[in-house]
Amino acid sequence: MRYSTMFIPTTRHEPAGVQAISHGLLVRAGYMQQLIAGAYSLLPLAQMVRRKIMDIIRSEMSQIGAQEFFLSALQPIELWDESGRTTAVSDVMFRLKDRKGSDLALGLTHEEVFTSIARTNLTSYKQLPQIWYQMQTKFRDELRPKGGLLRVREFTMKDSYSFDVDEAGLDRSFQLHRDAYKRIFARCGLDAICVDASSGAMGGAGSIEFMIFSDSGEDLIVTCTECEYAANIEKAASKAEIPSATTSTSEFEKFHTPNVRTIKQLEEFGEGFPAHSQIKTLVFVADGRIVLALVQGDQELNESKLQSALGVSLLRQATEVEIIDTLQASPGSLGACGVESGEGFKVATIIADKRLQGRTNMVTGANENDFHVKGVSIERDMKVNKFADLHKVRETDNCVRCASAIKISNALEIGHIFKLGTRYSSTMNAQILHADGSRNPILMGSYGIGVERLMAAIVEQHNDEFGIRWPVSVAPFRVIIVPVNWQNEEIRSASERLYAELISAGIDTLLDDRDERAGVKFNDADLIGIPMRVTVGKKAGQGIFEFKLRSEKSAKELSSEQLLVEVGNLTS
Ligand SMILES: [Zn+2]
Repeated sequence: MRYSTMFIPTTRHEPAGVQAISHGLLVRAGYMQQLIAGAYSLLPLAQMVRRKIMDIIRSEMSQIGAQEFFLSALQPIELWDESGRTTAVSDVMFRLKDRKGSDLALGLTHEEVFTSIARTNLTSYKQLPQIWYQMQTKFRDELRPKGGLLRVREFTMKDSYSFDVDEAGLDRSFQLHRDAYKRIFARCGLDAICVDASSGAMGGAGSIEFMIFSDSGEDLIVTCTECEYAANIEKAASKAEIPSATTSTSEFEKFHTPNVRTIKQLEEFGEGFPAHSQIKTLVFVADGRIVLALVQGDQELNESKLQSALGVSLLRQATEVEIIDTLQASPGSLGACGVESGEGFKVATIIADKRLQGRTNMVTGANENDFHVKGVSIERDMKVNKFADLHKVRETDNCVRCASAIKISNALEIGHIFKLGTRYSSTMNAQILHADGSRNPILMGSYGIGVERLMAAIVEQHNDEFGIRWPVSVAPFRVIIVPVNWQNEEIRSASERLYAELISAGIDTLLDDRDERAGVKFNDADLIGIPMRVTVGKKAGQGIFEFKLRSEKSAKELSSEQLLVEVGNLTS
């Protein structure tokens, strides 16, 4: 292509509200422009990159036997009602009515639609396994779109779905995707790591996220400094010393604590009660029922872990009115001693962090304002229904596998794979006949990559102060030819000859045929991030060109024959 005929609106102006490097660079380098919050117009250079990324994804999906579909973005709401997800996703789902008044949704994912195709067409074990995928537009009404392409309301997703007869089959489909994703990210020039993740609103038996370390990322991941352990903080476990009980063991006793409302105030009250000897009582509403969640006083509760442990789809903190109605006391004086739970009681479940199991001589609220109880023994004085890992991992904790030090870092999710199991096939009745004559729900997995987010992630990992540095595999052009003076006949004809040679060798090349100063052209070439630059200058008449990699400072002189070899060899 010729620069003069292309639409590349580079600008020096940083867009407003930039929080991610990729956002600023993709706008300044003329790849995209914002239409509305969370929706971007992708311009020609971006579409070239997007197509290369999609080609890489297609080739790797094809390697694992996946078949490409293209489903409707318009979905009937009834399918979401059937899977039971309508409420769980109501915040982010774009809904509309057609002219006849039918309820429709713009797809935010396609588990329901693919499951509906499976249940009417896959009836026998002989038809499995199957892996189906598509690359299609998804819509999510995000509360706060931001970070350019990192969090948007409309985006392309590669979503695939596996259908298997049994757990072993699902394990195999999951492993195939895990390996394919590793290859996809490596081919896109990304240094990705796999982390254990929480399944969230997707449900199912387990999931793995693919992450890159990035300050623009909104996720926090816990990694071990010694072993391979890596997990999203929503899921991460850790080891920590359980503090030994305070030396003086007190009797179970209610005591007056005027104006003591916080862990800290109680630490400093009277004889002093260390935070690790206190029990923090939090009140939640989980699928409409009141839940008391208990953690050690110096720990934070992790809501994702609580949601997984309870197995509920909707979880929120209780309002003060709900709390007073349940426990007859205000936050700051709450506790679980003597609270009954289960059918017929206001509290459905009392769940406590594992670190509280078996603990004695603890302090907690008395469910009476300005009173606490001490000498509490968890097992004796509380009817805890379930102990689970509920606390947030802290950097001072140790690795759950090898007890070494851990690190908590910002990371950006670039892919997520789920073992759905029978989560959708059960509720939507997608069953198959087995060899032994029994009928059972199909085992499913679902697997996603956001295409434009991947483009932004590549920019996050490949840039410098001058602009983007695309890896060759996804760059819009492999080479840019920069004639230093387009008015010079010798330079112009040498540039045209070289351009023709590169094109006929099948190399994506951009010829900067603009009548601009060399400095302007160099700056634009760096900003838009073409991996290789060939400068055509004074030695053009002798057939000598200056060759420079975007990633390196120094240039070297090459003949056109040498150039062709060099350009062809460079693959990353
Ligand atoms: Zn470790």
